[in-house]
Amino acid sequence: MPSKRTTFRLDATTQVDTANVITFPDGTDGLDFFATIKLNPWVLKNSTKEYILATIVHEALHAYIDFKFQQYFQGQGGVTQQILANLFPIFWGSTGPYTNGGTPTNSHNIMATNLISVISNSLYSLNNVTMSAPMKDSIYRSLAWGGLYKTNVFMSLPNQASLIGINIAARDTAVGAGHSVGPFIIPSYPLDTFKFSSQSMGLKMPCK
Ligand SMILES: [Zn+2]
Repeated sequence: MPSKRTTFRLDATTQVDTANVITFPDGTDGLDFFATIKLNPWVLKNSTKEYILATIVHEALHAYIDFKFQQYFQGQGGVTQQILANLFPIFWGSTGPYTNGGTPTNSHNIMATNLISVISNSLYSLNNVTMSAPMKDSIYRSLAWGGLYKTNVFMSLPNQASLIGINIAARDTAVGAGHSVGPFIIPSYPLDTFKFSSQSMGLKMPCK
C-alpha cells in the first residue's frame, strides 16, 4: 500500500522573519515518499490557527507534487504521462512535462492555478463558529494565497495588497488597526492603513 510519510518537526532556530516552514524530501522508494516539514515555533505561538493550517496544507501539497513528479520521472507507481497531465495540466506541453516540474517555483504555480480551493476548503475543518459564511469564503481564499506571491497568477490579481494584508494580520495576531509592518513583497504596500486584525476578522487565536 503506497504511502506518503510526512514528519512534522519544530525547528527552534527559526524566528519571526524566517520561513514559516521548510520541507525536505527525504527520499522515495518509488511507492513511498518520505518528507520532513519543519514548522516555525514562532508561527505556532503567534499565528492564527487558520494561518497555521493553511501553511501546513501548502507544505503537504509541496510534498505531494514532488512525489508525483518523482514517480513519473522514475517510472514508478504507475504514474503515466496522462495521469501527470491530468493532475498538473499547466505543466503539460506539446513535448511532455517540464523536466524540472517539481521545483518549488513550479509547485507554487501549480498551487496558484489549480489548488487554491484545496487549501481554502481545508480551513473549514477548524469549525470556526465566529465567522460568517461570506467572511469564511473570502478570508480562507485569501489565506490560500500565502506563499504564492511570486507566481504569475498572483501577480495578475487586482487585489494583491488586501490579500497580503490579510495574510500579515493572520500570521501575526499582534498586528491590528494602526499597526505598521513591512516592507513586505510589494514595496509600495500601504503599511500604515491596517483597519483590521486577526481578532476583528474572527480568526482563531493560537495556543499560548
Ligand atoms: Zn511553498
